Amino acid sequence: MTALQPGATIGIVGGGQLGRMTALAAARLGYRCHVFSPEADGPGAQVAAAATVADYQDLDALRRFAKQVDVVTYEFENIPLVTIRELAEIVPARPGPQALEISQHRLVEKTFARELGIATAEFAAVNSLQDLQAGLLSIGYPAILKTCRFGYDGKGQVRINGPEDVTQAWADVATDEAILESVVAFEREVSVIVARGLDRSCAVYPPVENHHVNHILDTTIAPASLPAATAEAAIDAAVRMAQAIDIEGLLAVELFVTADGAVLLNEIAPRPHNSGHWTQDGAVTDQFEQLVRAICGLPLGDAAVATPTVMQNLIGAAVDDWPRLLASPGARLHLYGKAESRPGRKMGHVNWLGGAAPDNHGP
Ligand code: AMP
Repeated sequence: MTALQPGATIGIVGGGQLGRMTALAAARLGYRCHVFSPEADGPGAQVAAAATVADYQDLDALRRFAKQVDVVTYEFENIPLVTIRELAEIVPARPGPQALEISQHRLVEKTFARELGIATAEFAAVNSLQDLQAGLLSIGYPAILKTCRFGYDGKGQVRINGPEDVTQAWADVATDEAILESVVAFEREVSVIVARGLDRSCAVYPPVENHHVNHILDTTIAPASLPAATAEAAIDAAVRMAQAIDIEGLLAVELFVTADGAVLLNEIAPRPHNSGHWTQDGAVTDQFEQLVRAICGLPLGDAAVATPTVMQNLIGAAVDDWPRLLASPGARLHLYGKAESRPGRKMGHVNWLGGAAPDNHGP
């Protein structure tokens, strides 16, 4: 295992804020970044040393890009698998295609977890209205029907409360690859981010508690206040997933915690995660630097909490509050350079150091 020396170039597939913050962290360690994205002048390209603007399926552009970088990573998981497979033929892709393949498909992801003995909601594969009816017989009501692919921020999922919802739900998901899940009566939603290096060592951030509004992450409280056994179970599930996937980079694992302390895996993402943004100001090493260290073969950094932190997303017009946030003691503002704010669009976030946001901004 040879480490990539500072001065090497990291290729980032995807042009959004996660790539932007990765590029900023990489620059701190002396690396250059080259962003590949269909969008010109997006959040990532604005701060990268180089950018390729091309479609994810443009094989010529992908090959040219691969030859100009020393390692490739990706900043969101809804890119075609073929893109990463193609790149991986030419240059190390970290995480590799396998991590993408598992995390792109809810059924594969949950089956993978179950095979490792990690608990999930009850689920059934649904490829037809008949499958849906059969699944509901075993899972019962209420249930959630989700598309297996391309779901994010609550998109592509429908709740089924009773038999009267079934036909409409099947029409609404508009796919023939779906998963039916039991509704988990969770007490909290938490996530754990695991960094895993080329030497297979892991650095694990403590579980954090996530609050969603309209299915979009609104607030993360770091660290989560959980009984020690629950925190250990969450960490154990996340580390086992990271090891079984053989991840090189970051794995974010979202989990439900029930009132009796059971921990159920909901979703994974093989990339930096919105619920890890607190680490930029609240952890010894932030998740973006940790990704850079992992994929470049450097030793991982300390994932310990430096100061309890509350991360608040600035979604849509909330970003207009930036002057006030800049002037607030204990607030660390991060903006993504997006020209236009739209409802539901993540425009930036603020990390409140000390673990409590003032009342007028608080969660
Ligand atoms: P997902 O896209 O799977 O992360 O789902 C988005 C949000 O919907 C989650 O963060 C939960 O708040 C809720 N949700 C998803 N699946 C379930 C489930 N099986 N039971 C209860 N709530 C769920």
